[in-house]
Amino acid sequence: MNYDIIVIGGGIVGLATAYQLKEKLSDKYTIAVLEKENTLANHQTGHNSGVIHSGIYYKPNSYRAKLCVQGRRDLVQFAKKYNIPHDICGKVIVARDKSEIPYLETIYQRGIENQIEGLTLLNGEQIKEYEPHCVGVKAIHVACTGIINFKAVAEKYAEIFSAKGGVVLLNEKVKNFERKTEHTIIDTDKNTYTAKYIIACGGLQSDRLALLYGLKPLTRIVGFRGEYYELVNKEKVKNLIYPVPNPKFPWLGVHFTRMINGEVECGPNAVFAFKREGYTKTAFSWKDTLDALQFKGFRKLTTKHFSYGVKEQWRSLSKKAFLKSLQGLIPSLTIQDIHPGRAGVRALAVNPDGTIADDFIFEHADNAIHVLNAPSPAATASLAIGDTISQMAIEKFTLV
Ligand SMILES: Cc1cc2nc3c(=O)[nH]c(=O)nc-3n(C[C@H](O)[C@H](O)[C@H](O)COP(=O)(O)OP(=O)(O)OC[C@H]3O[C@@H](n4cnc5c(N)ncnc54)[C@H](O)[C@@H]3O)c2cc1C
Repeated sequence: MNYDIIVIGGGIVGLATAYQLKEKLSDKYTIAVLEKENTLANHQTGHNSGVIHSGIYYKPNSYRAKLCVQGRRDLVQFAKKYNIPHDICGKVIVARDKSEIPYLETIYQRGIENQIEGLTLLNGEQIKEYEPHCVGVKAIHVACTGIINFKAVAEKYAEIFSAKGGVVLLNEKVKNFERKTEHTIIDTDKNTYTAKYIIACGGLQSDRLALLYGLKPLTRIVGFRGEYYELVNKEKVKNLIYPVPNPKFPWLGVHFTRMINGEVECGPNAVFAFKREGYTKTAFSWKDTLDALQFKGFRKLTTKHFSYGVKEQWRSLSKKAFLKSLQGLIPSLTIQDIHPGRAGVRALAVNPDGTIADDFIFEHADNAIHVLNAPSPAATASLAIGDTISQMAIEKFTLV
């Protein structure tokens, strides 16, 4: 029950961090991962789109830009080394009409600044060479984008970490911290642990873990559910087709994704999740809803984007409205072509002024590091995030 380092959260960020710590530190440090569920990668990591992002969208020099590019390259090497099925199939980002061209060009410039390899600008005719059913006026083909199953990646991190002496403990929900000078006592719902150092990677619960530890994070997590439809007529999509995203929001717009299991998914949208870890339209938690409503940042966010929120809710309820968005990219799609599918919930860190935090946030305090924001592309970037956090731990905790 006594460890040098305890990592909280068995999602891809916690497991990549544990994996990188084991790679860097000598065996004298004991490391454990505590995960509250009975399986690993059960939340965001197991409910995402499975896209290995290129890094084209993110502000140059941000953590998201740098760690996505580095993390993608490391991930592809890792997947090759450990035979994890993946496919660097490329994607197109498509301007549906002339009004979208300026922002498409901004994305292209960002891609150049972020040194994304394999970018090609396409005209309307050239789009058809990549995606015969897609209609647009201009596009970027991003050759280095790919697909993978991130749950399989996270499980491989855990497997290697365990094989090297790390300990992964499931069904251990962290409920309390007691900070002492030399160590922290961690109470879970079943046991008590002590750790000299803590690294909290709690995803949808990360703000609560930080508050429990005694930090005063400025941001709060708000869950946004992303719902998918499955494409029945899979021939209509060869690989990945994305629209030009709305620059006001951190999501990429409903898109078509060929998954590594051969299915094609359409989505995800983004609606407020009344339950942070709830995956159906009716999932509801008083605690999660009240926490969001009591936070002024969330109230400001909803006031500012009220009509957008209403439209998103409508698109969540109406298959026809969802289809209409998809027809913006593939006009020949019919209502019979799509079936309701699964959903995931994104953890978005919202600032008190109602803006959504744009970058990854890693906060150090005393003997702990808290990951306060790890939205997309954190799965792609996981090895680079784990590398950054473990370097931070070595420095701040003076580990050797
Ligand atoms: C719909 C959707 C689509 C996405 N698409 C992509 C994509 O295509 N490509 C990409 O790179 N990224 C994508 N992302 C983002 C990516 O999935 C996340 O950024 C990443 O999975 C975050 O990993 P995490 O470990 O921080 O969080 P999680 O995977 O949520 O893991 C956090 C873990 O902490 C555990 N935990 C929480 N509280 C406690 C506690 N008190 N005690 C013990 N354990 C606790 C949870 O049970 C959970 O297992 C997507 C996300 C969503 C939701």
